[in-house]
Amino acid sequence: MYITKNNFTKFLDSLKKDYDVFVPVKKDKQRFYKRYDTFSDDIVLGEVRAFEPLKAFYSRAREKVADGFKPDATFAGNKPFAVVGVKACDLKGFKVQDFVFFAKGENHDYEDPFYIKNRHDNLIISSDCTCAIDTCFCIALGIRPYPKEDFDINISEISGGFLAQAGSDKGKDIINKNSDLFQDEPHGASDKRDAIRAYTAKQVEKNIKENEIPNQDLFGDIISKNYDSDIWKDEAKACVECGCCNTVCPTCHCFLLYDQKNEDNMARMRIWDSCLIKDFARVAGGANPRHKLWMRLRNRFDKKFDFFPKVANIYACTGCGRCISGCPAKIDIRKVLKRLVKNA
Ligand code: SF4
Ligand code: SF4
Repeated sequence: MYITKNNFTKFLDSLKKDYDVFVPVKKDKQRFYKRYDTFSDDIVLGEVRAFEPLKAFYSRAREKVADGFKPDATFAGNKPFAVVGVKACDLKGFKVQDFVFFAKGENHDYEDPFYIKNRHDNLIISSDCTCAIDTCFCIALGIRPYPKEDFDINISEISGGFLAQAGSDKGKDIINKNSDLFQDEPHGASDKRDAIRAYTAKQVEKNIKENEIPNQDLFGDIISKNYDSDIWKDEAKACVECGCCNTVCPTCHCFLLYDQKNEDNMARMRIWDSCLIKDFARVAGGANPRHKLWMRLRNRFDKKFDFFPKVANIYACTGCGRCISGCPAKIDIRKVLKRLVKNA
């Protein structure tokens, strides 16, 4: 199906009745999500991923998970979210988040009702990347810069409008409900979409080549072979333990529970946690199995490139590059991977 830009604005207005709609906007060189009210010129539906990871719409950075220790916790928010302009690297993050919170596999005891409700209720309107920034390296992780799965509707920007593809029954229903805004695909539209996809992929491939980023085929035993390497100590020298690399990452999912005393009751809160922070693994008796910063840096790579491939058959990195742009110490995951592969 095809939808013109004008009609897409009407489509967003229609979605607003049932969803809190979030769209990516661009300010200076940065893209971030904003609640949609009316269409504005700063909305960018193509280009590249926003600064915030998609996970922020599924497990909030801070949320109440129980009131007075009752098991029937109230869910935050009145309406579900519709997140528009989600990119393929963020959708790949679901593979890890779903594995953790959906209780898949025989070793899982718990499932997360908040995450599951959000996965069920929220709507994803993803979009193709139409360019790459210099930190993008998704192709090294086997991801193309356009969504293939895990969306309700995907849009591909071509001149004057978007090609739209439903990826779920919910997506089909929404397109049907707004069928007056959609039309048959114009002649040659798929060819134009494929040309933009090929152009974007070439830009990512250029990044990979210029930065000599190794392909995931070479990641097999880079952690075990480098477990006692000095690379960890060397890379950790500049780390300031801010935790940004974890919080911006679409696959990182660790959280911390704490109890908060309100005026008349206690609330159990959940906040995102970061494995780079000293107390992350500290136990009640005071012992800390990863008391050195380099151990925590190694642990981050261990989880992403050794633990998750073993338990879920996936690398817990999507090549989105957020941790590269976010790290104040300029620790670049691509360079660390390059060192690990070279030294393995
Ligand atoms: S580790 Fe870095 S590049 Fe990989 S998914 Fe997380 S934020 Fe993106
Ligand atoms: S973002 Fe950089 S400085 Fe901050 S914790 Fe991660 S590696 Fe360390």
